[in-house]
Amino acid sequence: MTEISGVGVSPGRTVGPVVRMPDPVPEPSAEAGLPGESDRDEAAARIGKAAEEVRADLDRRAAKAEGDGKAVLEATALMAADPTLVKSAAKRVTGQGAAPERAVWDAAAEVAAMLESLGGYMAERARDVADVRDRLVAELTGRPAPGVPTRDEPFVLVAHDLAPADTATLDPALVLALVTAEGGPTSHTAILARALGLPAVVAATGVLDIDEGTTVLVDGAAGTILLDPSAEQVEKVKAIAAREHTFDGRGRTADGREVLLLANVGDPKGAAAAAAAGAQGVGLFRTEFCFLDRSEAPSIDEQVESYRTVLQAFPGKKVVVRTLDAGADKPLPFLTNTDEANPALGVRGIRTSGRSPQVLEDQLEAIARAAQQAEADVWVMAPMIATTDEAEAFVERCAAHGLGTAGVMVEVPSAALCADSVLAAAHFASIGTNDLTQYALAADRLMGELATLNDPWQPGVLRLVRATCDGAAPHSRPVGVCGEAAADPALACVLVGLGVSSLSMTPRALADVAEVLAATPYDTCIRLAAAAADARTAAEGRAAVRAELPVLEELGL
Ligand code: PEP
Ligand code: MG
Repeated sequence: MTEISGVGVSPGRTVGPVVRMPDPVPEPSAEAGLPGESDRDEAAARIGKAAEEVRADLDRRAAKAEGDGKAVLEATALMAADPTLVKSAAKRVTGQGAAPERAVWDAAAEVAAMLESLGGYMAERARDVADVRDRLVAELTGRPAPGVPTRDEPFVLVAHDLAPADTATLDPALVLALVTAEGGPTSHTAILARALGLPAVVAATGVLDIDEGTTVLVDGAAGTILLDPSAEQVEKVKAIAAREHTFDGRGRTADGREVLLLANVGDPKGAAAAAAAGAQGVGLFRTEFCFLDRSEAPSIDEQVESYRTVLQAFPGKKVVVRTLDAGADKPLPFLTNTDEANPALGVRGIRTSGRSPQVLEDQLEAIARAAQQAEADVWVMAPMIATTDEAEAFVERCAAHGLGTAGVMVEVPSAALCADSVLAAAHFASIGTNDLTQYALAADRLMGELATLNDPWQPGVLRLVRATCDGAAPHSRPVGVCGEAAADPALACVLVGLGVSSLSMTPRALADVAEVLAATPYDTCIRLAAAAADARTAAEGRAAVRAELPVLEELGL
């Protein structure tokens, strides 16, 4: 075994030693109690000692961490210091003769259920209890602590898959690349890797068999993991990594055709980072952050405050605000129904406004007021538009709030195929390739097993992009792409060739996309677009396009 292949989801090449993410802590057996001759008090005391160890470890890690990661670690350390769980577990050992690890498991279930019954903020703490439980069980059974390992030297993190909680504590200064055996191109691992600018390969079967400490060369574009690379290969990677890398704030092809390079932003902090990275505006402002983890919709005033902060980071520039996209992988208790059999095909995106029209009305009002208080050029769009009727109704609601530029996200194949009439009504389209791919290929975007279907290079997806641009052209409506596809420099050239005039991505990708576009004339983009969209398979299209873009190799992309 010298090379393992997976799906490349975040470009870049890097070299480093492999460190394995520990496997999830398994549930201790319910049958195994303490052996008859054991001293129950001594066994119970081990739980208290384990809790002290766990807390000390979390404190050490929190002291070294920053931002969200620090907050997560501190919250978990606090929970580990809380005596409720330890006392209840110890009682199960002394009273019932339970094994300490099983006692911790059962006591944690009780504490979590109690917190959940309180609802709101307390219910969210149930997750911290599960985290502390796993750490205690690992300590008691001599396993490595769960979560991203800590090391003194940078490493390539290899895991089954990463959960959102793991990603909060991941230190980008220490982790060189992410490689997972599971996960798809729009999994948390992939999205996080692109946001952090780390090369990443997912769905790499066999990667868990690599020995810890083995040196590997990860190629996040090709989707390969090369074991024990030669000194020459390592030197080449290092030389590319050392080059200067910034975006000058002007997206264009080699022959000067303008392509707006915009940022995807999820909250005010992200807006500041996007502005600092030179983004020419915001092509997708996801407003869900205002609504998540809440039991009812935020007030109009509260929303105005949040939106204004984002708009103020881009005076004189375009900011495309997307109205709330709840449902499917983003459930909201006050808006969506968790009992749906097929949530990705259910009441999500704009469809929630049929059931709860006031939430949309309030949000549009808040966006309009925030726009009045800032100098950004505010555009508004709705997620999951499927029909011309929906597009017309949305434009009308926007106009009623004084929002004059109203568009649609093209994420449902029907909207792409009916772009002619959809874009007679809507003023612009932004293609969400993450969902468009999921729906075009009928493949759940979160399932690693379907990663090869869930690939925006699929000719079926690119033909829908072409259909959208063709439908928009007679009305002179601009079409952008704001799905993850826009962050792939090779695919960016294809999208431009298909007729897309703006690309919105994680700010980290701006410099690479800008550099590859600046090296590629527009007529080459058109040729590449035909090669990819008319290809027989995704792999053939990608290979044909990459072969025509030698700049990718030069930049190590
Ligand atoms: C998309 O579907 O491509 C998109 C940008 O929206 P989200 O990823 O938020 O569903
Ligand atoms: Mg979407």
